[in-house]
Formats: sequence, structure tokens, C-alpha cells
Amino acid sequence: MLRRLSLASRTVVFVALVCLGLLAIDGWNSWQSRQLHLRQMSVATSNLARAMAQQADDQIKLADTVLVGLVERIESDGTGPAEIARLREFLAGRIAQLPQLDGLHVYDEDGNWVANSRQIWPQNLNNADREYFQFHRANTSRGPHVGVPVTSRTTGRSLVPISRRINHADGSFAGVALATIRVDFFVNFYASLDIGQAGALGLILEDGTMITRRPYSPSTVGRDMRGSDLFQAYRSQGPVGTAYIRSAQDGVLRLNSFRRLPNYPLFVAASLSKEEILADWWRETLWHSGGVVLLVLVVAAVGWRLVKQFELQVQTEAELRRARDALETLNGTLKTLAMEDGLTGLANRRKFDVTLNTEIGRAVRDASTLALIMIDVDCFKQYNDIYGHAAGDECLQKIGRTVAALAARRPGDLAARYGGEELAVLLPNTDVQDALLLAERIRNAVRDLKIAHAGVENGFVTLSAGVEALRPSALDGQSKELIEAADKALYQAKTQGRDRVCAAAHPSTS
Ligand code: GH3
Ligand code: MG
Ligand code: MG
Repeated sequence: MLRRLSLASRTVVFVALVCLGLLAIDGWNSWQSRQLHLRQMSVATSNLARAMAQQADDQIKLADTVLVGLVERIESDGTGPAEIARLREFLAGRIAQLPQLDGLHVYDEDGNWVANSRQIWPQNLNNADREYFQFHRANTSRGPHVGVPVTSRTTGRSLVPISRRINHADGSFAGVALATIRVDFFVNFYASLDIGQAGALGLILEDGTMITRRPYSPSTVGRDMRGSDLFQAYRSQGPVGTAYIRSAQDGVLRLNSFRRLPNYPLFVAASLSKEEILADWWRETLWHSGGVVLLVLVVAAVGWRLVKQFELQVQTEAELRRARDALETLNGTLKTLAMEDGLTGLANRRKFDVTLNTEIGRAVRDASTLALIMIDVDCFKQYNDIYGHAAGDECLQKIGRTVAALAARRPGDLAARYGGEELAVLLPNTDVQDALLLAERIRNAVRDLKIAHAGVENGFVTLSAGVEALRPSALDGQSKELIEAADKALYQAKTQGRDRVCAAAHPSTS
């Protein structure tokens, strides 16, 4: 039973381990797949930033290259009326080849318009207030300058100014050459990139001024980004980096990759929404985790059924065992009842017959003597008549107890109720003398019970006994012979006056 129970427990543990194992494997796989998705997306944003940086760098370089030629030309040719006329043609020609440029401009040292690429020529315009103009006037450096975005005075467009300083022959400030790139140009390029619904792209000056951004709105152009997490991350991580940043503008958590332009003091940032990056992963995970959970439920259900079946089996077996035990007990009782006399508790006639046959067999094998005492209560019919049948029964019980006490001293001895008020005592390995002695003891003992019997001369219940013993030589007929001989001896005792013991008289008696 314990083994069966522990089998059920073992099944529970096994099923639980299988279920946990499945869940753990699925959890681990999901986690790995999530990490892989994030890594792939990190590579994707990094590549995007590289492409954006290269594109911006290329465009600025194109504009700057024009400026280098322009500055050289002005510094060598001067700005006389004929030179200016040729210069305007040159500028118009260059601008026609570079659609990304909004305009090319030349300003004198006071910020007055000297020449530009446009056909329209507004009068009395001065650009001395522009940041790039003030920068070049204050700095003698000859390198290119990318300025903060401006709104065109003539077209109202947002523009990125790229400028270089023009010097007089003595090195003093002679003015500024300016190329403007349309912010739209970047806006359109960024709009063509696939960054999902919640991705974002940005082009930012290293001083923290936003040039443009996707999603675009005019207010983003020129915004100061110095306080933003993105700008701080760029400042702390150097020219190339990656960071998860929650946007201060729309609250979206994004994976940001930023990168400085190779040649100019700007950087780009490309970012994808973490939620969007993981959307596919979530879909996949929900599908296969759903499958695994279903599998786990099936395994658990099958395991539960198995355990229930084990328990049922154990219960059924216990019930069967109990029923068998009860049957065995009942069987034992029935067996005893079948071999016992109900009134006296002595062996019954059936038991006597079986034992007699067995003992004859044994006596034949052992060449031993088997003795039989046949006992009959004297004048018992009269006793019944006088005292009643119930008293007769009681008398028989007393006699039975007395006989049992005296006769069953050795294991093989058997005292039985032969029938009515007749008893028999079977004594293996006993000769007639000993049997006679025992018979006498029984007779005396019953006499000594002093059970009153008004119908007999001495006033008490007595009994008569016939004794026979033989050394059987064969099985057949020996039992009958023994009984008949003992019966005959009993009859003899009766005829001689009762209350006595007689041995069978034939010569085989030893
Ligand atoms: P005898 O001395 O010759 O043996 O005389 P008896 O009266 O004993 O002889 P008999 O065999 O004629 O009578 C036996 C009587 O024993 C008959 C019957 O009423 C009585 N008897 C037999 N079995 C039982 C029993 O189980 N209970 C009672 N109360 N009486 C029994
Ligand atoms: Mg009788
Ligand atoms: Mg009798």
C-alpha cells in the first residue's frame, strides 16, 4: 500500500517537474528571443544613424565645397560691378545643379547683400544680425560654420546656413559667403525611412540646437535640446552611442542610437519605440507560450487522472483485501462450526470420522495401537423424562466438559460426541490397558459430578463405556471393526448392570 501511495506521489512530483520544466524552457527561450530582438534593433538603429550622419555630412560638404570656390573667387577677383555680375551668374549656375540648396549668398563686411543666386533682388537688406554673420566677424578661422537654423527673409522657409568667412587681402573681415540647405530636404529624406509608427529621427547641432526632427513640426526647428536626456547621453557617451530614453515630448520609451557627423559639428539620432520593437516578439511569445500553457494543462490533467486512478486502484485493492480477510475469518468460523458439536463443544461426528480414518492410517504406517472408548449415559431417556429435555442438555454439557478435560491430554487424543448421549474418545498410540484406565477415570469423574438422577438406583447420573484397541494392518474396514468392537464392549457394560467399563473380549485385544 505504501509502495502504491508513493507511486502516486512520485507521479505528482514527476508531472510537476515536467510542467515546470516546460514552462522554464519556454520562459528561457522567450527571454533569449527578446534579447535577440533588442540586439537586432540596436544594430538597426545604429545603421540608420550611420546612414543619416553620412547623408547630412555629404550634403553639407557639397554646399561647403561650393563655398570654398566662392570665397577663393571673391578674394582673388574682388567685388567690382563686373565681377559681381559674373558672380551672380556663377551662383545661379551652381544653384541649378544643387537642388538641395535653397540659395547661395555673399554679404559684405557690414552685412549688406552683395550677390546671391536668386533672380529677385530685394533692396536694402542687411544680414548683420544673423548668428553666422556675427560668428565670422568675430572669428578669424577660415573653416566652415554650420549655423543655427534661420527662416528665410524672402521665402519664409526654414534653412540650415553653411557659411565661410571672406577676408580682405590684409586678412581683415570682408564679409560672409553663405549656402543654405532647406530643412525640408532633411524632412523629406527622414520621411522616406521606415522607423515604424513611434520611431523618431533628429539632426542636432553640437551646441544643442535642433535642426529638424521626425515627427516634424515647425516648432521643433531651432529648439534648444541641451536639457534633453538625448543630448546628455550624447555628451557623456561620445561621438557614437546607444541609450534607452523616455521622450520628454511624447513619453515614449525609445532605443536611441546617435552618431556625430564625420566632418561637421552635428550629430544625428535614430530611435525606435521599444514597444514597437517588441511587438513582434510579444505576438510570437503569446502564441508559443499559449501553446506551452495548453500543453502543460494537458500534461497536468493526464497526470491528475493517473494519480486518481492509482488512488482508486489502491482503494479497491484495500477493500478487496478487507473482504477477503472477512471471508477468511468467516470461513474459519464455519470450518470450526462444521467440526464442532454445538451443545457440548466436543468434536462432532464428522470430525470423529475423519480423525478416525487419519489415525488408522497413521497407526498402519507406525505399526502402533489405536484405542477407542465408546461412552453412553445410563438411563438417559429416563433422566429426560424426569427433569426435562433442557436439563438433559445441561447434563450432557457437564459430562462433555468432564470427558474433554480428561481425554484430551495428548495432542492426538480426540473426544467427540458420537450421537445423542453417546460419546467417543479416540486415543492414538494407546493400548487397551491404558484406554481402560482412562475410561475408568472418566466414569468416576462423571459419577463424582453427582448429578442427581431419581430414576436410577444410586441416585446419580452414571455412564457405561466399552473399550477396544487394535493394531491395524490395513486401512479398509479397520474403523468399522474398531467401532463395532467398542460398541460391543459398551453393550456388554450395559448388560452387566451399567456404571462400568468393559473391554472388548475378542482375541485381538492386546
Ligand atoms: P441406556 O442406559 O440403555 O442407555 O438407557 P437410555 O435411556 O440412555 O437409552 P436410549 O438410547 O433408549 O435413550 C437415549 C436417550 O437420550 C433418548 C433421548 O431422549 C436422549 N437424548 C439423546 N440425545 C439427547 C440430547 O441431545 N439431549 C437430551 N436432553 N436428550 C437426548
Ligand atoms: Mg444410547
Ligand atoms: Mg443411554
